[in-house]
Amino acid sequence: MSRKPLMAGNWKMHKTIAESVDLVKKLAALTGAPADREILVCPPFTALAAAAQAAKGTAVQVGAQNMNDNLQGAFTGEVAPGMVKDAGATHVVIGHSERRQFYGETDALVNKKVRLALEQGLTPILCVGETLAEREAGKTFTVVERHVTEGLKALSAADVARVVIAYEPVWAIGTGKTATPDQAQEVHGFIRRKLEALFGNAAEKVRVLYGGSVKPDNVDALMAQPDIDGGLVGGASLKADDFARIVLFQAVAAPAK
Ligand code: PEP
Repeated sequence: MSRKPLMAGNWKMHKTIAESVDLVKKLAALTGAPADREILVCPPFTALAAAAQAAKGTAVQVGAQNMNDNLQGAFTGEVAPGMVKDAGATHVVIGHSERRQFYGETDALVNKKVRLALEQGLTPILCVGETLAEREAGKTFTVVERHVTEGLKALSAADVARVVIAYEPVWAIGTGKTATPDQAQEVHGFIRRKLEALFGNAAEKVRVLYGGSVKPDNVDALMAQPDIDGGLVGGASLKADDFARIVLFQAVAAPAK
């Protein structure tokens, strides 16, 4: 079964409202409305509504980078799922490694957020991936298996078909070190087999994005891999030209080694 590729930009803590609007407009103009792929940008909360407004009538979709695990209440400084939806977000990144690392997000919290996002009609992008120490200790598959199994706990097959997974090896995020297409495919294939074991045929519908220093010059080879269904892009999504080139990837086989 073919899965429509999704190219998602994670702007992290960058861009003012005016800069966000400008970037959305430039990106929409550069990419047009390709029918064979989806485009998503995830601005900071402060720019979400303005970016969503600027994206209206274009192919660019807008998502949040996080949300709280409660619907409302006394949680100072937090943003509820309904609020990001109200601002125009259709997607939400959940369990990014920076949230796991700096804000102590556990698999249990990540799972609660994934379930709540689905209940609220948002598409969760569940981030999974090992640190350098874990890879060097030979624990890549154990860690990824735990992130996937725990992150998707208590979901039905129908729910899972609506989830996007992003495999992001932590050692490749913002470091300029990209997993080779073969290294990435090895883990993406592992995730697909795990999804099959847990949810049967629904596994074929789940898009598994790769994230970690995706750039215009490596996106084509990554996207040629059978189980890589798009990208979650940090640094290179902050420049319209670079991200447009990534969105407009042309899957080609990696050069011979
Ligand atoms: C990310 O923020 O999820 C990411 C992959 O960042 P970068 O592309 O900069 O490595």
